[in-house]
Amino acid sequence: MRAYDIILKKRNGEVLDRNELEYMINGCVNGTIPDYQTAAFLMAIYFRHLSSQETYYLTELMRYSGDTIDLSQISGITVDKHSTGGVGDKTTLVLGPMVASCGAKVAKLSGRGLGHTGGTIDKLESIPGFKTDVGMTKWIQQVNSVGFALAGQTANLVPGDKKIYALRDVTATVDEPSLIASSIMSKKLAGGADAFVLDVKVGSGAFMPNVTAARELAEIMVDIAEKAGKKAVAILTNMDEPLGRKIGNALEVIEAIETLKGNGPEDFSQLCLVLGKYMLNISLSISLEESEQRLKESISTGKAYEKFLEFVKAQSGQTEYIENPNQLLNNKGIYEMKAERDGYICKMHTQNIGIAANLLGAGRESKEDKIDFSVGFDFLAKTGDIIKKDDTIVKVYYNDQARLKDAISMLKKAIIIGDKEYIEKKQLIFDIIG
Ligand code: URA
Repeated sequence: MRAYDIILKKRNGEVLDRNELEYMINGCVNGTIPDYQTAAFLMAIYFRHLSSQETYYLTELMRYSGDTIDLSQISGITVDKHSTGGVGDKTTLVLGPMVASCGAKVAKLSGRGLGHTGGTIDKLESIPGFKTDVGMTKWIQQVNSVGFALAGQTANLVPGDKKIYALRDVTATVDEPSLIASSIMSKKLAGGADAFVLDVKVGSGAFMPNVTAARELAEIMVDIAEKAGKKAVAILTNMDEPLGRKIGNALEVIEAIETLKGNGPEDFSQLCLVLGKYMLNISLSISLEESEQRLKESISTGKAYEKFLEFVKAQSGQTEYIENPNQLLNNKGIYEMKAERDGYICKMHTQNIGIAANLLGAGRESKEDKIDFSVGFDFLAKTGDIIKKDDTIVKVYYNDQARLKDAISMLKKAIIIGDKEYIEKKQLIFDIIG
């Protein structure tokens, strides 16, 4: 077999078999195929695409390119949730304890912030003492005892995806749906869960700009999961404005606590209920109505909040900060950004809001950067809200004057105030697939 012939075959739009894909992927990972040939291969895939069977083979080859996690020691069906990434997305912090308090088993592997989007691990590390390098044995024990445990990805999980993603990143081949779907699902499947709820974000703060593109990605991911013998449902959700009102690591932990106590913002609370009811439905095999009922009870009785405290304690976090969450903030100041005219919030350029949060210090520009956990935004107004001149639109929690200046200048351009007829339409859920 020769890489040249396989590249030519795909370039001509033919379908590859498992052996040919295996030859290319293994050769790329172990270095026997040079990067320039893998790059040409990726470009051929970009223009000619992969069939559903080819996409599945690619996913499985990457899934088994390194360590895989065995969750068979966990009693019951394990469920995982994945979000394709957005701004203000703190759903794991609420969903984990909420569904665990209803009997589901959640073994979650999470990441750090990427680009303009935040990361669950960074958010949780804003709680003093909280540890995510818990070790596999303890992680599995905690899923059995608490129902929810969260760890960072080990270095040798899916090295095939790491290598191929790095090449896609520099060859303009990231945004091909079967490559994105196989990249995400190889990591999910290697993580070992039995069932998946996939939150596919759509809009100006997301990877997928419109519903058509997001639906295609969602259908491919669900198809891969089904071919692998797993249950999966994908939900297309709005990322045309930040999720909830708070952005920034400690601020998002605070909003998650408010939501677990039943006092969260409407859009975020609603999204957690929708994702949560599918997590219970597919892992406990109970109806969607009963799942929703149990989740609402877990909030109203305080069970979900108690489960969050138990989870934080199990991962060495200091629970006094959860009981008095304002202690998580130690800002030099809070700047109030005011409306410059009467009108409505017509649009929020969500990716730029994420970038503004990074400028403030809430994210990293390079891997080595240290995050400032207590900076961020609290939006008092969002898309569709009526405002008067000099109303505060956003409270900016800051620590550094120069960073504050840069963040405000970006934020001002990201929030569009205008007349009623220019308000961008809002919808929380666009579609459910699977
Ligand atoms: N996230 C991933 O993990 N992979 C992609 O290709 C895109 C987003």
